[in-house]
Amino acid sequence: MKDSFYDFVSYELEQTLPVNWQHIAEDKLPGAQPCEISHAFHAHIAGESKMVNILVLPLSIKLNADNEKQLLMLRDKLLSERVLLIVINEELQADYLADTGTFISERLLVHSPDFMWISCCLDKNNKMTFDGIHYEYLHRGLAKVWEGKLIYASPRKGLQQVNLEIMKGNCWKCGKEIKTITGLVFPDKQLTSWKNTTWKYYNGLLNLSQIMMDDTILIADFIEILRIKDPVVTPVSFRFNDADQESYFAASCPYCGETCDEFYVNDERTGLLHSMQSRIDGSLKYYSLKLNIDQYLIDRLYNGCEACVHTTDGGWITRTKVSFYQLDKKL
Ligand SMILES: [Zn+2]
Repeated sequence: MKDSFYDFVSYELEQTLPVNWQHIAEDKLPGAQPCEISHAFHAHIAGESKMVNILVLPLSIKLNADNEKQLLMLRDKLLSERVLLIVINEELQADYLADTGTFISERLLVHSPDFMWISCCLDKNNKMTFDGIHYEYLHRGLAKVWEGKLIYASPRKGLQQVNLEIMKGNCWKCGKEIKTITGLVFPDKQLTSWKNTTWKYYNGLLNLSQIMMDDTILIADFIEILRIKDPVVTPVSFRFNDADQESYFAASCPYCGETCDEFYVNDERTGLLHSMQSRIDGSLKYYSLKLNIDQYLIDRLYNGCEACVHTTDGGWITRTKVSFYQLDKKL
């Protein structure tokens, strides 16, 4: 027998069906119980025709290695077809993820305009939230989706302008003053100058070690040009780590050649994030460059969160709160 949470979602959905929707027959829904799509339909969302798939995960579902694998495969299949996958799960408490919520957060969630995660929280009368503050009935939240009142304001995969970050500091080994390449940030708007407080970047810094092959070549070339004018900027290259027996992309001191250890870099950098002063006084400096970012890097960006005055969460937000983050539509 199906959990009543499925009925709840069906009922809420019936309150707010999108205009011109075309339902997919039940026997044609992808997946298999308990990892089956509950509703699938074509809909016009913000003027665009889109296939929507809804996956319902009640508290009662018992996840194990098999059905977790099924869910991941189902997600990958649907996202490869460029549908909008909406995962609706049931939580006991708004500020605490149970096992299913933890699985969604850590493994199923994809930071993409094709993926939306909605939690209905029992301690909030089964209401949901898009901003973590205001809770509303599920049918009202879904209506915002169909009406195009929500927008996905976060980095997405593809060719785009990102910011390379340079931090003034001292080499942990030789102590000389250097300008360390720390990694990439994804700004919420595009500007000609970054030495101001009018912009934020999404979620946090993507450290150099997380950046993959093609992008590393472009970054290294860009930095070599910077170093012609300013030789104290750290060169970057792949360095071998004895402890992990792996190579990874890293900056090194232009004086002594020692790798700029990410632990020290992040520690020093954290002290500069308490206010925007670091941008104004040049402790943190940013340069735009165009890179082809893949989904893997986007998801790495959301491992952890800096949560400071420099950052913004992004994700699905109401249009009134949209910053001016725009990908270059000419690309
Ligand atoms: Zn040094």
